[in-house]
Amino acid sequence: VERTLVLVKPDGVARGLSGEVIRRIETKGYRVVALQLTTATPELLAQHYAEHEGKPFYQPLVDFMLSGPVVALVAEGERVIEGFRSLAGATDPTAAAPGTIRGDLGRDWGLAVQQNIVHGSDSAESAAREIGLWFPAS
Ligand code: ATP
Repeated sequence: VERTLVLVKPDGVARGLSGEVIRRIETKGYRVVALQLTTATPELLAQHYAEHEGKPFYQPLVDFMLSGPVVALVAEGERVIEGFRSLAGATDPTAAAPGTIRGDLGRDWGLAVQQNIVHGSDSAESAAREIGLWFPAS
């Protein structure tokens, strides 16, 4: 079975949506196998978002991710990487389909970065790398 890294980003934690995100993951049938409330560091985010370095939203994204605690979790299940991205919906909360986390709960705040509640790994390689970053003991 697959594993994926999910983050409830600072906006989601601050808005009290961590439980709702976990509920959707578990109701879908995935298992939460690791979970922690943590605050990111610049070093961790530089690695996590290395692919976005140099893009206009990179620094706003890093600053946003440092603005408060996040819930990091590992979800496990058949095709959970693709499955969680379906649960999350499109990056832009305005475009995200109703029924998805971002479509139901997200809104566009008119800021330089999309504060879109969750992150989910986008491939098996990303998942392995990101789980190692956020859960180094695993
Ligand atoms: P995530 O990786 O967080 O699940 P994603 O795969 O939908 O989201 P990425 O393209 O990996 O999106 O971008 C990472 C994050 O950077 C997004 O979730 C969003 O917060 C922010 N972001 C991405 N593209 C933009 C953009 N064009 N404008 C503002 N913020 C953006």
